[in-house]
Amino acid sequence: VCRDVCSDVVCDSLSHTLEVDLGHTNSPKPSVITPKFHFTAAEARQLLTELKLSSIRQLLTALLQPASTLARPTISQFHVGAVGMATSGDIYVGVNLEFLDMPLNHSVHAEQFLVANLRYHRETELSVVAVNAAPCGHCRQFLSELQCADNVEFLFGDPTGSYKLDQLLPMRFKPQDLLGNDPPPLLLSAQNLPLQFTPGVKEAIAERSTESLLFSKAAQLALQEAQESYCPYSNCPAGIALITTNGEVFGGGYMESCAYNPSMQVCCYCLNLVLLLSASIKCLLSPMWCSASRC
Ligand SMILES: [Zn+2]
Repeated sequence: VCRDVCSDVVCDSLSHTLEVDLGHTNSPKPSVITPKFHFTAAEARQLLTELKLSSIRQLLTALLQPASTLARPTISQFHVGAVGMATSGDIYVGVNLEFLDMPLNHSVHAEQFLVANLRYHRETELSVVAVNAAPCGHCRQFLSELQCADNVEFLFGDPTGSYKLDQLLPMRFKPQDLLGNDPPPLLLSAQNLPLQFTPGVKEAIAERSTESLLFSKAAQLALQEAQESYCPYSNCPAGIALITTNGEVFGGGYMESCAYNPSMQVCCYCLNLVLLLSASIKCLLSPMWCSASRC
């Protein structure tokens, strides 16, 4: 984890191995559509034709069932899928993740997963999202953090049900309430925080990199994720990189909410990505912890 600290003297690195079981659950019946987390605009057009659908909204709704098979609700067994189209025309999927033996507040909601997926692909705007259950209050608040929050169309419930966030969470507490009427770029807008490793951390990374080149790669990725994290309230950026036993490196960055509690922790974000990108759902991970300071 790269955390911003205001002092020059920082840190320390340590690593250890932990076992994370993303778990198997009773999945809903398989669909004719192969479920996955990202469909390009071209794939979306092809699916529209194959499924004989007349609109993107119908396609997003049709993708909900296969999307929900990707969920890992190991505690609730309640599969949630959120399927959203970005303004690029690509379609992204989010699902709910629950972790056995961990506090419930470490769960990831499908809509948060979707935002993490959009961020990972450097999408800046969500235009419409279909969800197979009414978005909970936590997600309605978290989604109000998006730069494009007022424009997102939500589809759920009744087949014709189409809502804007102002209807789903009227008179809500907004980023502007803490940041003023001219806030910095909000969630999904590009973030570029001036962070760098402190000399002590650089040294520690160099030492560890003699054991494995992957360590250096993970360190750089953790720093980049911290630089791109969204933390206008705490001003405390954080990023994480995980190395899997397959030798893959995954990174994730912190995403805050003006209501604080719906913020998405870096560990949850990163586990999102492991599931998103890896065939393996049970990985041994070697987290690398270190610190960085502002340039
Ligand atoms: Zn939710």
